[in-house]
Amino acid sequence: MLNDKCRVKNDRRIFCVTTRLVFSFFILHSSCRLAATPRPLANEPLVDIKSVDPGIVVDLRYATPRNVTDRPLYPPGTPCLVRASVAQRLRFAQFILRKQGFGLKIWDGYRPAIVQRALFDFIHNREFIADPARGALHTWGAAVDATLVDARGRDVPMPTDFDEFSKTARMHYDGTDSIVAKNLDTLQRAMGTGFYGMHGEWWHFIAKNWRDYGVVRAVPAWELKIQPPVSVTR
Ligand SMILES: [Zn+2]
Repeated sequence: MLNDKCRVKNDRRIFCVTTRLVFSFFILHSSCRLAATPRPLANEPLVDIKSVDPGIVVDLRYATPRNVTDRPLYPPGTPCLVRASVAQRLRFAQFILRKQGFGLKIWDGYRPAIVQRALFDFIHNREFIADPARGALHTWGAAVDATLVDARGRDVPMPTDFDEFSKTARMHYDGTDSIVAKNLDTLQRAMGTGFYGMHGEWWHFIAKNWRDYGVVRAVPAWELKIQPPVSVTR
């Protein structure tokens, strides 16, 4: 009887230890798997959007004072870059818009981490600007800020201007202007072929395969001209 009790106790102990070992292995294995998430396009180069589709209008607002900080954050003449396959997604969206008498205008693409940090410190609201410490998809070359223009590249009515961080900037327009609603729908349908939208910013689009990229390793030469620290204050 006593031997039986001891055996049961021992069996339980063995079960607990085994369960703990299996659980630990599972946690370790999961962590390793996350850390080693394959990024098949990690080394894909950045390309100039204009070189892939010269018809896409580029107005890089962070190379001008016409942004939320009222000062340029990129050097003059900075090109608008994205990963090569992200540029192909833009090209397809542009192709769709062209057939409808519209086109794309890009406000921002690849953003150096140093500028992302400066913007985050300036806005300090994760709803609008991603914390670079947690990863920001503009710094991966996998996100763009885009709006709609007509066939001649002229602005058309949209919910807000760029970097207008308000409820009106949400991707689900609930205003009363039917032209704005239609224009936003046209942009979102075309961009929806290759990108996800973002709740708080109607102009922000993320490549659907964003997980494939990761941080940009070969940074462009102009990025080195940005003298740290970049700091913008109100
Ligand atoms: Zn954005």
